[in-house]
Amino acid sequence: MGNNSTKIALITGASRGLGRNTAAALARKGVDIIGTYHSNKAEAEETVAAIKALGRKAVMFQLDTGNVASFPAFVSEVRKALKSVWSRDGFDYLINNAGIGVHAPFAETTEDDFDRLMNIHLKGVFFLTQKLLPVIADGGRIVNLSSGLARFSLPGYSAYAAMKGAVEVLTRYLAKELGPRGIAVNTVAPGAIETDFGGGTVRDNKQVNDFVASVTALGRVGQPDDIGGAIANLLSDDNRWINAQRIEVSGGMFV
Ligand code: NAP
Repeated sequence: MGNNSTKIALITGASRGLGRNTAAALARKGVDIIGTYHSNKAEAEETVAAIKALGRKAVMFQLDTGNVASFPAFVSEVRKALKSVWSRDGFDYLINNAGIGVHAPFAETTEDDFDRLMNIHLKGVFFLTQKLLPVIADGGRIVNLSSGLARFSLPGYSAYAAMKGAVEVLTRYLAKELGPRGIAVNTVAPGAIETDFGGGTVRDNKQVNDFVASVTALGRVGQPDDIGGAIANLLSDDNRWINAQRIEVSGGMFV
């Protein structure tokens, strides 16, 4: 990827969906993977096996990205793995991907729903990135996952989309403040993609699936393969001058 030394990516939520797909897409480009999972250890092990089958190194750690108090212990695990597996003291790419979907009309959104979404999608991204700063190599990159829902509005996503909107603002501030270290920071905002996300509605509910296809310029619903490759390409050296941008990867939803 631009030079001879192997790059290492840390991807949160790499056990399933877009995180796993991104891990595989990066591994195909020669990148090694540090991943996290929340509760699906078996899926996490499948990700490790998939990355190793591609000839790259991979380790996975359990992490609740909504639990800020657990971050210092996580960071020291990451440091240990960097030393023992790679003989390095830093990694190159941070991909803040882990997330959950909560669908609730604004009028019925509870404080619990709001706090859960805020902890995972905003507070967790903010403080995990902060705690990992000393471990991200100068000249590295950060990608924060947002959503098409932060640009267009669909009923039922007010709290979720508000957190993603905040992450898009955070991305620009990180780009500004980390620029002196040569770290570029961008947002990738997928449209609706067929994963387990939000109970797998986009994939499994035919009405929702047809609706998404009908409002998408390319006429179908997104697949994980539509996203992982885009993120891996964004992280390639050819795209090093892209910074502080929001890149929507949605096949043209609601254009
Ligand atoms: P997914 O298939 O449901 O996978 C979610 C991943 O996040 C899993 O690896 C899961 O780990 C992990 N995770 C969930 N809660 C966590 C927590 N509290 N702490 C740490 N990790 C946690 O979802 P996805 O579709 O890949 O979504 C990935 C990202 O893309 C999210 O930020 C989402 O908001 C965003 N996005 C998705 C879509 C879409 O339509 N799919 C569209 C736009 C944006 P376990 O396997 O252990 O549960």
